Amino acid sequence: MPTTLIQRHYKYLLKPNAQQKEVIVRTFGAVRFVYNRYLDDLKAGKIMPPMAKDIVNGYRKEYEFLNVIDGSALMNTIFQAQDKAAVMGVYKKRNDQRASYCTANLIRSPIRIVGDRYIQLPKLGNVELVYHRPLPGDARIKKATIMREGDGKYYVSVMIESYPQIPKAAIDLENSIGIDYSSPHFFIDDQGNRIDMPHFYQNMQDRLSQEKKKLNRMKKGSKNYYEQKMKMAALYQKVKNQRMDYLHKLTTKIADKYDVVCMEDLDMQQISQHFDLGKRTYDNAYGLFSRLLKYKMKQRGKLLLYADRYFPSSKTCHVCGYVNYNLKLSDRFWQCPQCKTYLDRDVNAARNIKIKCIQDYKCRRVSGQSL
Ligand SMILES: [Zn+2]
Repeated sequence: MPTTLIQRHYKYLLKPNAQQKEVIVRTFGAVRFVYNRYLDDLKAGKIMPPMAKDIVNGYRKEYEFLNVIDGSALMNTIFQAQDKAAVMGVYKKRNDQRASYCTANLIRSPIRIVGDRYIQLPKLGNVELVYHRPLPGDARIKKATIMREGDGKYYVSVMIESYPQIPKAAIDLENSIGIDYSSPHFFIDDQGNRIDMPHFYQNMQDRLSQEKKKLNRMKKGSKNYYEQKMKMAALYQKVKNQRMDYLHKLTTKIADKYDVVCMEDLDMQQISQHFDLGKRTYDNAYGLFSRLLKYKMKQRGKLLLYADRYFPSSKTCHVCGYVNYNLKLSDRFWQCPQCKTYLDRDVNAARNIKIKCIQDYKCRRVSGQSL
């Protein structure tokens, strides 16, 4: 059972006041400056001190304005530049679009949630935030990334470490759910429940394409064009937030209810072949759904099992095991020629996924393989 620390990110909308905004924007500029300057120095073959702290102190002596900037943010940008340069040999400078910085939770400049309404951040003090999702009780904040996104709003992504909740003493293999991704629904479970993405999602998509049409009619570079772009960025952000919120609620419900979740090990490429093209946002939602579910099951000490991606889950009759190689994608229902069961394509697939995952799990357990 997992006893290792889990690292996770929690993202919140920030509502900095005018003064705090100024400090944040100044820090964006300063980290970009230090990042680019450091890469320049590396490229020029200049001998740099090995410790990020000494590099930052060197720059602070040279550039007065860096002295008022959060030191942890400056050090983090050096780390990022070092990683980039060492791993990829990339000396590409940061462009002006990038507006974020990362700062660590240190004793002398702590990061903490204050009264469910503020977050204390280095050099900023208490910044108002929308605390829509509480951190786990035992969470230790490691660092925070402050960013401004396309919609012009500010966000903070808090990285925490926490211990998984006490693992369940015994996993009840009967308390399981089989999930089959399915278009046009979001997924279908082995009990025949069809889960759709909510209507707001499609509504927002329609709205976005309308706004896009408007944008295309505008003169590029004009004030209207710019304002329309900002409006669209805000809509994109809203749909992103809604989707995230919906998927969080859905995955928490499943992870609380079941001991074992069985699903297909789909890769994204396969998904896009599987479903109508042009539904890329849907595909992202599938990937996100499975990632969220994975960590939530792990956190609860429960099981998430994957069926082999080449397992013919739709073509196999879940009652007798007959494989119908003639099944077409358009066949929503079929009757098994062997046992005569009338099968709903998607529910049958979800049942097969569940049966297959649990069989494989039992086999691995008997043969003593690690999971
Ligand atoms: Zn059959």
